[in-house]
Amino acid sequence: MESTGTIGRTITRTIFNMSDWSNVRADFPVLHQQVNGKPLVYLDNAATAQKPRRVIDALVRYYEQDNSNVHRGLHALSMRATDGYEGARARVAKFINAADPAEIIFTRGTTESINIVARSWSQAHLKPGDVVLTTEMEHHSNLVPWQQAAKASGATLKYVPVLGDNAEGGLDLAALDTLLTPAVKLFAFTHVSNTLGTVNSVDELCRRARAVGAITVIDAAQSIGHMPLDVRALGCDFLAFSGHKMCGPTGIGVLYGRRELLDKLAPDETGGGMVVQVNYEGATWKPAPERFEAGTPNVADAIALAAACDYLDALGREKIAAHDAELAALAYEKLRALPGIRLLGPTGARSGLVSFAFADVHAHDVVTFADEDGIALRGGHHCNQPLMRKLGLASTTRASFYVYNTPDEIDRLAASLQRILKFFGGA
Ligand code: PMP
Repeated sequence: MESTGTIGRTITRTIFNMSDWSNVRADFPVLHQQVNGKPLVYLDNAATAQKPRRVIDALVRYYEQDNSNVHRGLHALSMRATDGYEGARARVAKFINAADPAEIIFTRGTTESINIVARSWSQAHLKPGDVVLTTEMEHHSNLVPWQQAAKASGATLKYVPVLGDNAEGGLDLAALDTLLTPAVKLFAFTHVSNTLGTVNSVDELCRRARAVGAITVIDAAQSIGHMPLDVRALGCDFLAFSGHKMCGPTGIGVLYGRRELLDKLAPDETGGGMVVQVNYEGATWKPAPERFEAGTPNVADAIALAAACDYLDALGREKIAAHDAELAALAYEKLRALPGIRLLGPTGARSGLVSFAFADVHAHDVVTFADEDGIALRGGHHCNQPLMRKLGLASTTRASFYVYNTPDEIDRLAASLQRILKFFGGA
């Protein structure tokens, strides 16, 4: 179905004028295939993004030329691997404007990064009577670890509510006035909601947390590859993200932590590589980042993650943010016209995704039908079960966009959804 809205037409024109995005598609080998006899339309980017040739080449080059274990080797390959790994750390630090590469801990992803803080920091700092604050829109990865930390310490977990029947009002910032008291020791919140497309005012949240002396933890899983991010400007204490959502490999992620906090934190995991001295009685720890990277690190994927940073910065993160938001606005406009659709999240500015539900068609049916049309969507609770329950939904369908998606693909999505509704008797 064609959008008749002026907004849709304006948006389409802006995208075409913005820059030459057609070259971008050529960088991603996986996009050039047919699925069920149709050209693939990949709209599952919030789950994981595709990888450009540059990232794939970095992985292959490392394994073909440099593969070795890092840090303790004195031979050429080990030194090259070490240079590559530590170079990747410095590149990631630059990507988020961290003051010091030592503030970058390589992890498996957002989930592990948040768990490290939830275990190490919470164990040392939380006690009964303290409050951990998070929000109602968190992914399970930024919710369950805090439930566990609260249980283990006797602290209380509280949530900043979301506003509106479709959470269109975002976080209830007025509620912060009563929730954010000096009893709050840590405030953990997402930058961008993976289910709603809400972009939270993280600078304001950090500022207000600081005013009561609370530590801040930002879940940047959905923002890191999509918009500029500057940890020093934000003044956050910890920030977590995954490589695979920003054109990097799976199995690599980052925990950023302010140096002075990291150096005071006990390691959560112990073993080789993170100790200064070991005797039969005990051990002493290296400073950050090694202290938090026990065992052989994921060298190859860290190096490829640095290649992803280069790739995204060459495109320009301001431009990526505008491109994604414009595609999302175009999709929102087109989908709004479909009968019986319920669209979640903000009605205005949003990140590059739309999440929706039909009264009579289950999200899994939508995803299955769209797949017949070569379109990759995601249906389910998106690891947001409490939020879904609050909104009275079991699941939604989510279309999420990235640098290689085009307005034509939004047309294909809209046409496919029309076909689905027709099949189920809704249009
Ligand atoms: N937080 C958010 C907002 C996410 O979207 C995701 C991934 N869906 C995660 C955390 C967890 O990321 P990972 O599975 O890579 O650890």
